[in-house]
Amino acid sequence: MFKMKVDVAIPNTKLDFFTYNTGIDLQVGDLVLVPLRNKLKYGVVLKANSQRDITGMKDVKELIESKFIPTNILRLYEWMADYYLSSLGEVLRLALPSKILKKYEYTQRPSIPPRITESPLPTYPQSNAIKRILTAVKHDSFETFLLYGITGSGKTEVYLKCVEDVIEKGGRALALVPEISMTPLLFKKFQERFDKQVVTIHSSLTDKERRKLWYAIKEGEYRVIIGPRSTVFIPVPGLKLIIVDEEHDHSYKEHERMPRYNARDVAVMRGKFENCVVILGSATPQIESYHNAGIGKYQLLTLKERIDRKPMPEIEMVDLKKESKKFISPQLETKIEEVLNKNEQTIIFLNRRGFAPNLICPHCGFIAKCPYCHLPVVYHRAERKETALLSCHTCNYKSRVMSICPKCRRRTLLYRGAGTQRIEDMLNRIVERLRLHPEQISEPVVLRLDRDTAKRRGEAEKIFEMFEDGGAKVLLGTQLVTKGLDFPEVTLVGIVNADVILNLPDFRSSERTFQILTQVAGRAGRGAKPGKVLMQTYHPEQYSILYSQLQDYPQFYAREMKLRKDLQFPPFSKLILLRVKGENEAIVWNEAKKIFDIVKKRRNIRVFGPNRSFYYKVRKIYRVFILLKTAKDFQHRRLKFLNSLRLKNCTLDIDVDPLEVF
Ligand code: ADP
Ligand code: ZN
Repeated sequence: MFKMKVDVAIPNTKLDFFTYNTGIDLQVGDLVLVPLRNKLKYGVVLKANSQRDITGMKDVKELIESKFIPTNILRLYEWMADYYLSSLGEVLRLALPSKILKKYEYTQRPSIPPRITESPLPTYPQSNAIKRILTAVKHDSFETFLLYGITGSGKTEVYLKCVEDVIEKGGRALALVPEISMTPLLFKKFQERFDKQVVTIHSSLTDKERRKLWYAIKEGEYRVIIGPRSTVFIPVPGLKLIIVDEEHDHSYKEHERMPRYNARDVAVMRGKFENCVVILGSATPQIESYHNAGIGKYQLLTLKERIDRKPMPEIEMVDLKKESKKFISPQLETKIEEVLNKNEQTIIFLNRRGFAPNLICPHCGFIAKCPYCHLPVVYHRAERKETALLSCHTCNYKSRVMSICPKCRRRTLLYRGAGTQRIEDMLNRIVERLRLHPEQISEPVVLRLDRDTAKRRGEAEKIFEMFEDGGAKVLLGTQLVTKGLDFPEVTLVGIVNADVILNLPDFRSSERTFQILTQVAGRAGRGAKPGKVLMQTYHPEQYSILYSQLQDYPQFYAREMKLRKDLQFPPFSKLILLRVKGENEAIVWNEAKKIFDIVKKRRNIRVFGPNRSFYYKVRKIYRVFILLKTAKDFQHRRLKFLNSLRLKNCTLDIDVDPLEVF
């Protein structure tokens, strides 16, 4: 009788694979049902004819679906497990749709005939970029292009033209976007061009719909697939092009579960495993990406001007040290009024939710803090006074608002600082004062977009639509309003406080500040009328703020690289962050020290710590971190043992290429 051994990867396990006997003729990539600890589990065949010998080996129960995952995609998953120091079981948990195995709900529909509509003639710089990308596509060669183009330079049009060519030749393309709420924006542009051949993984899909789509995409029903970071895992037949829009964006990083992958880097590796072309697009590339272009790892394509030579918005600084203590300075207020009177649109950016970030007592110095995390709680106003809340933005703890200072018993509590709710009030007051013509506006005039107003699926999309309709005049929000928006009627961008991110104790805080400010400024003046930006800051001389005012990425890059070199931070080294978490403070430190000692013995790794995390205590959990610095060509497998380390009452979170080190 036919017999062999197979290695099978099982989702949600801490191991790369398990070995089974089988009498079925199995191939790499087959989906099987196998026994594991008295339960039946689904798994993917990783290796047929395994030579591994262990006692008490069990039999594969059943072949569910052959060729479930293509071999090169499986190799990508394996690479991820090694690179991110996690297990293949953990990779599969993130990569496969949940409950994959509610089996095949997908029925193939007849393929849709392509309908390609007219498109604008590319400008000279655009067509140069397109030509170089398409030459690589034609040769089926792996190549990564960094498309560095200033805001409004027509990067999206480059993507569209390249995809058009790929589709015409029968290929398929994958486009990643940073936030799931942004998929409809890019989707619309692709759909206008390519109609029903485009599909998007958007936020209002249920698990079941997602699973169906996963199968439909895998079977080749669509030509263009648009979605957030996890879309990078979906098998696509005949894949010729992967696009990563706004490649610098931190949402590409998985920030909760292992493996803590960056979808941009996984996309590049996928290009390598599938021999296809990858485009990384940004107006503010991550320092490492621009460096990679500098050393020839990526090909640099530059778009230096806005379409039709539209001017970049003029950026004016408001030095908050010199201004009255108003959250909206007189300069910004005047500008907002002007724009409202002209019936144009404004975007106001503040990276802080809630009404006020602090509740304090000016008499005794009391500051309301989270009892678990010991960090200040944010005051959130509600429609009725009784339902107002103090909320901890670190752990989500909520409590009622006190009216008497718990320390000195005085009735003198004050709200300090401003969040989006407070600014919304101020904007509404400006609007009321102006008495705008009712035929020009529709209620509400001011839209607020943050995690509180867009909690549920599809709400962010709705807010964008209301703004696009033109009846609403001011879009106020957190980071969600900084990304990729293309609203031609926006002629003013106001930045309430440019310093919020600068204050984080992180080596990337200057880079992030530069990126966010440049991106949000780039939302102004994209249509026929020129744009203006007002940036309020206490640090107008700080280099990331200064260079964002000058909108000079290359200068910023040069300055930042000098710092990185002095400190031996990426791209001059590789970082791995180990975070130990647990309820017992002493044990957490103890375990962290043990890990420190283990890693310290390894050659060619510099180990720092253990240190208190910036968020040292979240809820009841203490957090301590160890930072590893290695050479760039570090062999990750050397540290893979860390993932299976057994700690006493603690968990270990491993973050390779962390975006935040604190
Ligand atoms: P980016 O993504 O670089 O910020 P977009 O691709 O959104 O810029 O382009 C900015 C604007 O210019 C869009 O409204 C787009 O439709 C328009 N545009 C892009 N390329 C062309 C072109 N070749 N001819 C005319 N208009 C263009
Ligand atoms: Zn808390």
